[in-house]
Amino acid sequence: MSALAYTEIRGIVFDLDGTLYVCDRFAAEIQNAATTYIAEIKGLSHEDAGLAMAATRQRLTEQSGIVQTISAVCTELGGSVQAMHRYFAETLRPETYLVRDERIIQLLERLAKRFPLYIYTNNNRILTARIMGYLGLDHTMRGTFTIDDEWRAKPNEEMAKRVLKEIGLAPEEALFVGDRYDVDLRVPEQLGCPVYLSQNLEQLLRLEELLAGVTV
Ligand SMILES: [Mg+2]
Repeated sequence: MSALAYTEIRGIVFDLDGTLYVCDRFAAEIQNAATTYIAEIKGLSHEDAGLAMAATRQRLTEQSGIVQTISAVCTELGGSVQAMHRYFAETLRPETYLVRDERIIQLLERLAKRFPLYIYTNNNRILTARIMGYLGLDHTMRGTFTIDDEWRAKPNEEMAKRVLKEIGLAPEEALFVGDRYDVDLRVPEQLGCPVYLSQNLEQLLRLEELLAGVTV
């Protein structure tokens, strides 16, 4: 997107996982915990649960044409997204994998002086708070929207509209930033929001350049 399209921005809504940090090992650990949960409820071996989840994800993706989330795969296999997230909160240890990055802290601190910043994530509130605290980013956010607010995972139009309503911005004023277009950005873009795909540190840091000309 060109810098010009950003001129009306009055707030930024960030995805968390894969956007404000990138960590393949922790992403794999989340997937592993989801597989353990599905194995447990379906009475499958860990390996068979993994195969069932991969096949389900592929089938749902082919049917819908968009990449599917762990939440969608869990529901399709008869699991409870709530129970899966309880298991995540009890067992996942993001502190083992994540590394605090001063460049990201400073970026968000600078952005927070210019715009209200928000988190909107498919992660749960307990883990989101732990991750944001551990990464040293929690003080930069004006508000946080997590999956346990309404148990409606992204992508979800109603939830995206609720986020806009609660932060008090018109679609063209709210920039959505995420690492998965289908999950984080497609719905906001359809609602009229500017969007920015960020999948690594360089792309995240570049956001500041694109916002350089915006005066709030
Ligand atoms: Mg993400």
